[in-house]
Amino acid sequence: MGDRIVERHHQILIVGGGTAGITVAARLRQQVPSLDVAIVEPSTKHYYQPLWTLVGGGIYKPEDSEREEADLIPPGTTWIKDAVSTFDPDTSQVTTKNGDVITYDWLIVAAGIQINWDKVKGLRDAVGHDAVCSNYDIKTVPSTWRSIQEFRGGTAIFTQPTGPVKCGGGPQKIMYLAEEAFERSGVRKQSRLIFATGTPRIFAVEPYASSLEKVVARKGIETLFKHNLIEIRADRKEAVFRKVDSEDEVVLHYDMIHVTPPMGPPDFIAQSPLADAEGWVNVDKFSLRHLRYSNVFGIGDASSLPTSKTGAAIRKQAPVLVENLFRCMNDQVPSASYDGYTSCPVVTGYNSLIMAEFDYDKNPAETFPFDQSQERFSMFFLKKAGLPSLYWHGMLKGRV
Ligand SMILES: Cc1cc2nc3c(=O)[nH]c(=O)nc-3n(C[C@H](O)[C@H](O)[C@H](O)COP(=O)(O)OP(=O)(O)OC[C@H]3O[C@@H](n4cnc5c(N)ncnc54)[C@H](O)[C@@H]3O)c2cc1C
Repeated sequence: MGDRIVERHHQILIVGGGTAGITVAARLRQQVPSLDVAIVEPSTKHYYQPLWTLVGGGIYKPEDSEREEADLIPPGTTWIKDAVSTFDPDTSQVTTKNGDVITYDWLIVAAGIQINWDKVKGLRDAVGHDAVCSNYDIKTVPSTWRSIQEFRGGTAIFTQPTGPVKCGGGPQKIMYLAEEAFERSGVRKQSRLIFATGTPRIFAVEPYASSLEKVVARKGIETLFKHNLIEIRADRKEAVFRKVDSEDEVVLHYDMIHVTPPMGPPDFIAQSPLADAEGWVNVDKFSLRHLRYSNVFGIGDASSLPTSKTGAAIRKQAPVLVENLFRCMNDQVPSASYDGYTSCPVVTGYNSLIMAEFDYDKNPAETFPFDQSQERFSMFFLKKAGLPSLYWHGMLKGRV
């Protein structure tokens, strides 16, 4: 850092160039090309993370989910290749890891969710090898398909922590793919599959929950609800769970374990004046405007929006945020409203998927004119072939 302090100003500053940051920047520049928009993003690569379920299931290669960040920054937008370390919303400025100070007229925080590997003892060292795998990082996702292929029978455990995760149905999707892969490779008969989750039910929303209960029963998968993974003992191949209600500990042997790690708000947000009591960017759930700082907006996984954290949700949040930002820039009151829409395409096999779509009230908010709580090949095909294209060419270009 030394004595290098650079000061710069941007009309609109976006923190994070992931799904939400790029989508919002594209929409802003498309609607008003003269806007001065800058994105602070440290990573040179951008990932379409929903593909990692299918990478873990051996359908795609990890590199299929990856693009150069430079190719996605909308034309005319400034990319600041750095990370924000502190916010000072009272003076409308941020400080970066390099020590630069950036001031802004308007701030949009889109820095995603933080993976807390260290909240499970032994996990950070164990994950990625010796039958401990996880779809939740580009570095560990190849270990999922490897573990599935190397599994020769015994106990396969799939975990979900208590608390919010990216795409609430994600932890069980990979289990259904693994189950079918075990059938195909002939090891299913000598194997036991366990879904051990901190949550009280297989899915939070009806009618999808009832359908998924039938899927689990049909596939002969055992469920352990309100069981939160707290430790991996890799040397003994043991997973330690704490019961949510009683605090009792349960130790299970595994021959393969897929871990969905605990997640939470990024530390640099949680420690800032922008955070709510839990650490998320404290925004109004309808307008996406910050509840205390009127020139700040929040979007996506880092925000306090009380809905399932997905890219699909961001597709509906982005136009609301952009419209409300333009209104605020013109001294008008925000009037566009986000209804909590989110979507979780729950892959139930190599040819089937339940397309859950719902809003803040947990009411189905479905796109298609058929019962989406049923498993369908058409919805699997949409996830595999349609949605990646919609993401790269539609959403990130500000078109859908
Ligand atoms: C296995 C898996 C399956 C999923 N399945 C689905 C699905 O089927 N459907 C669906 O819609 N969604 C799915 N998701 C969720 C979806 O990928 C996320 O909800 C979405 O990417 C969140 O977007 P975001 O912009 O909020 O965060 P991200 O896309 O994660 O972007 C955050 C960005 O902020 C940057 N950043 C972090 N810290 C800083 C800092 N200090 N300063 C500046 N920048 C910073 C990061 O580098 C990153 O680029 C899945 C995710 C996973 C992992």
